[in-house]
Amino acid sequence: MSDQGQTFHPGETVPQSGIYECDCGNSHRWSTSTNVKNHTFPPLPEDCSGRAWALKDPAHPTE
Ligand SMILES: [Zn+2]
Repeated sequence: MSDQGQTFHPGETVPQSGIYECDCGNSHRWSTSTNVKNHTFPPLPEDCSGRAWALKDPAHPTE
């Protein structure tokens, strides 16, 4: 995990598809659809004490 650290807040534009995980430590996850154009990050779960999403596992789109 050398290039981790970039986080995204609810309402920000989704840069790429994949599985995102919150930063609260409880592994709340959110996965995007393949096409993330114009998508934004959702609010964090109600029981989540984190404040941002981080890319956990990038998707591998097939073109
Ligand atoms: Zn969480």
